[in-house]
Amino acid sequence: MGEFDLIERYFKRPARSGAHVVLGIGDDCALLAPALGTQMAISSDMLVEGRHFLPTVHPARLGHKALAVNLSDLAACGARPLAFTLALAMPAVDQAWLGAFSRGLFALADAQGCELIGGDTTRGPLTICITVFGEVPVVDGHSQALLRSGARIGDDVYVSAADTPLGIEGPGDARLALEAFRGHLSLPQQVLERVRLRMEAPTPRVALGLALRGIATSAVDVSDGLLGDLGHVLQSSGVGATIRTDWFAANLIAGDAQSAQVNGAFSFEKAEKLVLQMVLAGGDDYELAFTAPPALRDEVQAAAAQSGTLALRIGQIDADPGLRLLDAAGLSLPNHFGSFDHFA
Ligand code: ADP
Ligand code: MG
Repeated sequence: MGEFDLIERYFKRPARSGAHVVLGIGDDCALLAPALGTQMAISSDMLVEGRHFLPTVHPARLGHKALAVNLSDLAACGARPLAFTLALAMPAVDQAWLGAFSRGLFALADAQGCELIGGDTTRGPLTICITVFGEVPVVDGHSQALLRSGARIGDDVYVSAADTPLGIEGPGDARLALEAFRGHLSLPQQVLERVRLRMEAPTPRVALGLALRGIATSAVDVSDGLLGDLGHVLQSSGVGATIRTDWFAANLIAGDAQSAQVNGAFSFEKAEKLVLQMVLAGGDDYELAFTAPPALRDEVQAAAAQSGTLALRIGQIDADPGLRLLDAAGLSLPNHFGSFDHFA
């Protein structure tokens, strides 16, 4: 199967009737028509086998994740997804793989109303690069995009989560799964199934991002770890923050980490530390961390409810640069969670 047959078979579909896509796959360029009074939000993310995903991942989940991590960036900006391009390098044509990959990809694309409008296909080590295009309104000359630079002293700090039939989803899940796959810890089968899905097929918080427009002062999506990514917001906004840890247990966040067995011997103290590390520095979470003024607490909760998510209030922005951590008793915790390697 040649390059063009492959594109035709697995990636080209009849054009949808989306108002924004004037021309999709098949010409030298796609044509997008931004609506009047909007700005275009654009973001790219690359996934490389071995670095960003395990070779064992099912291709349908990989298709989902490749788009999900990009949609997560749009969510963090409060942008509505419109379209995306797909650049794909693979070592050989594997039709079963391509079929499953495109199925997972298009299922999420359709759920989010985001159309594949072009890309590139080449031979090489398995690498997936997606660029997404979204739109944000401009109101009275002001962009409604949520930026990292907008946090203000006194703002509340939040992180998203979700209450699902499988359990509470939140920061820490994906890292728990990764460490189980690395053989560093073992989890009960049911827990493993749940967190594995979080690692392999995260849900981008697009609806929450949209609902937070005009409410949140800043936002970032959590891909490298909650505290690390929050650090970008603090830096861009020129502020600091105090983050509590009492919300983990209260909301059952990473409660499943308590059931982990590490190297046979596993003390309670270690279990507590494990939860802290997973939640604060786990990475690959694709939750939104954001700030909003205390006067808008009800509006934040309404936005979360409307988008089927939870907005957990985890701390406060203050003037002191840097990030301070408080434990459940309000005592200061050393913040060495920037980079996670306690399993190294
Ligand atoms: P060019 O050589 O002019 O860049 P290509 O021959 O690479 O164009 O691609 C032909 C058409 O197929 C273009 O419209 C391109 O955007 C699209 N395309 C190529 N690879 C993919 C892919 N993996 N997914 C979606 N569209 C693709
Ligand atoms: Mg090309």
